[in-house]
Order: sequence, then structure tokens, then C-alpha cells
Amino acid sequence: IYILAIESSCDDTSAAVLRNDKVISNVVSTQKIHEEYGGVVPELASRAHQQNIVPVVHQALLRANIDKKQLSAIAFTRGPGLMGSLLVGTSFAKSLALGLDIPLIDVNHMQAHILAHFIAEEKNTKPEFPFLAMTISGGHTQIVRVNDFFDMEILGETLDDAVGEAFDKSAKILGLPYPGGPLVDKFAQLGNPKKFPFPKPKVDGLNFSFSGLKTSILYFIQRETKTNPNFKEENLNDICASIQYTIINILMDKLKKAVKETGIRRVAIGGGVSANSGIRSALKNAEKKYGWSTYIPKFEYCTDNAAMIGIVGYHKYKQKAFASQDITAKARYIIQ
Ligand code: ATP
Ligand code: FE
Repeated sequence: IYILAIESSCDDTSAAVLRNDKVISNVVSTQKIHEEYGGVVPELASRAHQQNIVPVVHQALLRANIDKKQLSAIAFTRGPGLMGSLLVGTSFAKSLALGLDIPLIDVNHMQAHILAHFIAEEKNTKPEFPFLAMTISGGHTQIVRVNDFFDMEILGETLDDAVGEAFDKSAKILGLPYPGGPLVDKFAQLGNPKKFPFPKPKVDGLNFSFSGLKTSILYFIQRETKTNPNFKEENLNDICASIQYTIINILMDKLKKAVKETGIRRVAIGGGVSANSGIRSALKNAEKKYGWSTYIPKFEYCTDNAAMIGIVGYHKYKQKAFASQDITAKARYIIQ
């Protein structure tokens, strides 16, 4: 089975080809235009998708070295995401499926961040069901109980900002360009995580909150800058390390709680923030410390990519779970 997958939910245009559960090509075109605005501008994102989608799909087929006539189905991201961005991928996928007269498969982006763990790799073990998945991305922060491929239950989620947003907004306060998450991570690795303690929010159950942290970072920087105008620049590594340390602690506290409440010790992470060095090592440590089995995606499957859409497409194909041609994109789309 050959699946062509298309992802266009935010600011990355991506296409991938899978042979069964193996990725044979995965092309991601990241839109640079948003950097100068300090965040994703939806209007510009849709235009860039429209410009990029045909070349990106063409590249994916070329690198996979297959002809489009060999494709078994087209999978695409239906949501959640920016409506204008989703419309481009959705319309393109529909047209291509119609033209080639092959099935169309709709995919939930947040399910895909989780099911990316089922992409076949040389040496990776796939999680057994049920397992816990913490999806940490630019728009979401959720702890999900995954009972089966398409049977998922949200146990907790953020009440305000997503964790990726917390990274990006902190970076912005520090004067770093968008997206700041990877930069905070880079500087954090050179700093002292205990130099500047930030308060952790008190949130009930398995829910999260990150807006308070952002505010306390802002006030802290404003206060320190009054006495030392170069405070940010002089302490960048330590500030980043302290912010990252606080965020990782918040995430790990809730994960530990989720494991305790459910008795499930198989723990996976997914979404852009799972590329973060701090969360990756915290999770690895938890294997030895608490006896968990942990699942960490390869870097290229953390941030948005079409390969993860393709693996969901493959599993839906096997179930003959096809979409009809009148399907529409969904900006808000709960995983189940
Ligand atoms: P969603 O998946 O919720 O719809 P999205 O698709 O926009 O949102 P992703 O592409 O999954 O989000 O993740 C992007 C986020 O990941 C950004 O906020 C980015 O800063 C963050 N991120 C990426 N790499 C790192 C890193 N190494 N450390 C911290 N954050 C990171
Ligand atoms: Fe995403």
C-alpha cells in the first residue's frame, strides 16, 4: 500500500509517501515569512501553503521514486489548525484523490502526533495499548489515555496557553525570534537551571496552566532590567535554563500523577516540544527511576510533518475508513 500524506495545519507545508508503515519520503517546507512578525500570520500562512503545496508534493513523489498512479490513497490533515491553512491541504487532497480515482482519508493532527510512534523504524519498539501520551505542541498540552489506534481519551489538558506557546512567549520576552522554543532549549543547555526559581502553578487534576509562568517571567525580567539594563543579555543561558527547568518539572509532575492514577507505565510524548532536550532526558531518566517504558519520537516526527499523517492514513486504510468528497476542514477538532 502506498499512501501520499499531506499536512498543512499551521505554518509547515509537508508531504510524505509511505509504503505500508514505512516512510519512504517526508518533505517539510517551513515558512520563513513569519519570523519577522514574531508569530504565525494566518493570512500569510495560507498563501505560502498555496504556493508550496504542488512543489512539496512533487518533491515527495520524486524522492520516493514512485509515480502518482501507484498511490493507493491520499491522506490529509482535516484539523485542528488554522482554517485558511487547512483549506489548502484539504482541497488539494480532495482534488488529487478525485483525479486519481483513489480513496481519500481524513486525519486528526493531534492523533497523528501520538500515532507517529507507529512509524516503522530500524530499531524502535512501538508502544503496546493502552499507553499514556503527553502531546506537547504549539497549540496543545494534553495527557491522553490511548486505548487503541482510534480510541483515545483526554485525561487532562491546558486551561490557557499551550506549552509550546509558553516557550515561544518566554523567548519573545527575552528578545529571541519566533519560534523561540528551540532557541530557549539551545541556551538552556549552557546555563544553570536552578539560578532563577520560577513558581509552578497549582492546577487541579491532570490539567495544566502556563499563562501565570509567562507573566512571572515578564515581571521578573522587567524588575531586573531596572537595576541592570543588560540583565537579559548577561544571563541569557541561566534564564533559559531556569525557564526550561520549571516547564519540564510542571510536565513531569503531571505525568507522574497520570501514571499513578491509571497504573499505566508506558509513557509516550509527541508534538513539537517533544524535540526539547530537557523533556527527552527527563523521560529517559524516568525509565530507570520509576520503571516506565518511554517512547520518544525521532526529531523529524516531533514538529509538524506529513509522515505522521501518513501512518494514520495507513491504519485507516486497513480499516477502510475513507472520507467522502464532501468532507470539510475543521479548525477545532477534538481527538475523539
Ligand atoms: P498543534 O500541534 O498543537 O496544532 P503546532 O502544530 O503549531 O501546534 P508543533 O509543530 O507540533 O505545533 O510544535 C511547534 C512548537 O514546538 C513551537 O511552539 C516550538 O517552539 C516548539 N518547539 C520545537 N522545538 C522545541 C524545543 N527544542 N524546545 C522547546 N520547544 C520546541
Ligand atoms: Fe502540530
